[in-house]
Amino acid sequence: MALSNFTDGAQYIGGRATIGTGFEPFDVVNPADGSTVQQVRLASTEDVDAAVAAAAAALPEWSRATPGTRSEALLRLTAVLTEHAAEFAEVETAQTGKPIKLSTEFDVPGTIDNTAFFAGAARNLEGKAAGEYSGDHTSYVRREAIGVVGSIAPWNYPLQMAAWKILPAIAAGNTIVLKPAELTPLTSLMFARACTEAGIPDGVVNVVTGAGRDAGERLVAHPGVAMVSFTGSTGVGQRVAELATATVKRTHLELGGKAPFVVFEDADLEAAVHGAVAGALINSGQDCTAATRAYVQRPLYAEFVAGVAELFAAIRLGDPRNPQTDLGPLVSYAHRDRVAGFVDRARGYGATIVTGGGRPKTGHDGTDLTRGAYYQPTLITDVRQDSEVVQGEIFGPVLVVLPFDSDDEGLRLANDTPYGLAASAWTRDVHRSLRATRELAAGCVWVNDHIPIISEMPHGGYKSSGYGKDMSQYSLDEYTQLKHVMFDTTAVARKDWHRTIFGDRG
Ligand code: NAD
Repeated sequence: MALSNFTDGAQYIGGRATIGTGFEPFDVVNPADGSTVQQVRLASTEDVDAAVAAAAAALPEWSRATPGTRSEALLRLTAVLTEHAAEFAEVETAQTGKPIKLSTEFDVPGTIDNTAFFAGAARNLEGKAAGEYSGDHTSYVRREAIGVVGSIAPWNYPLQMAAWKILPAIAAGNTIVLKPAELTPLTSLMFARACTEAGIPDGVVNVVTGAGRDAGERLVAHPGVAMVSFTGSTGVGQRVAELATATVKRTHLELGGKAPFVVFEDADLEAAVHGAVAGALINSGQDCTAATRAYVQRPLYAEFVAGVAELFAAIRLGDPRNPQTDLGPLVSYAHRDRVAGFVDRARGYGATIVTGGGRPKTGHDGTDLTRGAYYQPTLITDVRQDSEVVQGEIFGPVLVVLPFDSDDEGLRLANDTPYGLAASAWTRDVHRSLRATRELAAGCVWVNDHIPIISEMPHGGYKSSGYGKDMSQYSLDEYTQLKHVMFDTTAVARKDWHRTIFGDRG
């Protein structure tokens, strides 16, 4: 049965799709041509309350299920996702505009692999068996689920973000209410349906499709939610942290990025040029780890700029459903205009737009691109380190290149933004690479590559890019809490330490 049937509603609560009680209609739009993929009704705050109640009702049984039971459910989910892989890819491309080859080769298999990983990880949650530290007690540590998790996700990788939020939370025995971005709710709803099809009990995974300001804020502030896991912009992350403080919730914040791409003079130039183009343009640059600022040591600078410009000009923009298309539109017209604003202002303050910098007209396949939210791959040079295009998160197909002289200078400039999500160093010198991996202040540093992620390894930020880890065994630390259990071993009624109360009265 198809998972992409949304006629029975865009809320998924207690194992069932429902229209909910909200009245505000919202069109999920295909940014390639402006057509409506699906009209939904946004969740009301009452829908959020109903979803939290369903998650709370499912919690006792799910949190007490054995790791083996949870693992088996996730293995069945892996099979359901695999069976529906093509359907997921098609809907992901329709709601985001990302090229079908990216959905098919990255988003969907990445999600399936993550699910298989957490099926294994669920059985490897450990509380330490400990010992007799005081001499009079045996201590041990229990690792326990936290409760109902409220998760909020962005629109750039909707399916993968749903998976990154849902999987570690439920593998560890929590139940969850996920609010996807209002622009792109469809594959999150499909993921929730797939959970039910896999036999994950009703209420363990709930999805509310609503706006940030009401459904999102209600979820964060809800007294029944024990933890908030948020991925999105740094500004909204700050608001989420502020709201969560009132009820002292644990927060996990995966925020914005502005990844530097540092090319030292001994680098393999061909590798660096290709790496920069792929790293800057993946998902139309709407990737929190995308290469956005290339710092190139002076001897390679001119050749690097020329190489990137040549490859940018050859990128095939077109219909995202066409497997030959390299680059689709941005996620929405409003976001395209925001990206264009950064470039136009840079032009205004004297930057050189080496290539791109505007809206394309016709695609490689004859598609009329003026109907979609397309923007050309854009290369910018001659900007200052403190300019907006170097410091701000553009989140589009825009790469800025700056030269540097000494290694000290390159590393200093690379670290000189508020963000710290990812970075890469390009060099064939082992000492340079070791220094760069040590000094680049980011949660992920690549050497001679930029972008790959893997289920076994943690993803998360330093500095204003947030805290906490997604994916990997480390993410389970976010979704569990430790309890110290202490057993008296003496069987003595009047303990030695009671002297602090009773003194010499024994
Ligand atoms: P956003 O911050 O605008 O929105 C993210 C989510 O927050 C959406 O679901 C939105 O509805 C919700 N939201 C908005 N206002 C809210 C509020 N007041 N209270 C509660 N929820 C609210 O981000 P976006 O534009 O959807 O996504 C792009 C951003 O996400 C970029 O900054 C990008 O770097 C970041 N991102 C980070 C990572 C990471 O792993 N660090 C991964 C992907 C995206």
